[in-house]
Amino acid sequence: MNQSHFQNREEPLIKVLNMDDQILTPCKPHRAVREVERSRAVWIDEQTIKLLYNPFLFRDYRKTALKRDRHTCLWCGGPATTVDHIIPSSKGGSDLPHNLLASCSDCNTKRGNRSAFSYLKEKAHTVPNLIKLCWRIFRAKR
Ligand SMILES: [Zn+2]
Repeated sequence: MNQSHFQNREEPLIKVLNMDDQILTPCKPHRAVREVERSRAVWIDEQTIKLLYNPFLFRDYRKTALKRDRHTCLWCGGPATTVDHIIPSSKGGSDLPHNLLASCSDCNTKRGNRSAFSYLKEKAHTVPNLIKLCWRIFRAKR
């Protein structure tokens, strides 16, 4: 009930290792649990997780995806400033370029956590290249 009391309580931090066992910034336990649930990390012991991806590469993956899609939103053809996960990270979707689409922030927000095909039905009339987008969605893997 007492929120501030709960927040002030000292939480032990979880040690985070990179794929090459390099030590990264520690994280809160709930964050570690989420990373493991998303198959993005594994537990080494009760206080340590090891990441299965390289967090430093994600910026590059975003850039690669935006450049590949010519900074054009694949949903509406507008200028893209963000990337959209075809399979959401909450459902285990990866951060690799094959799971990313260039997207404007409007489409990214409107789609939220819905499946790509469900948003596609809504946006079918504005999608600039339907075949290309369907193919991307079809090919996206975890
Ligand atoms: Zn858009």
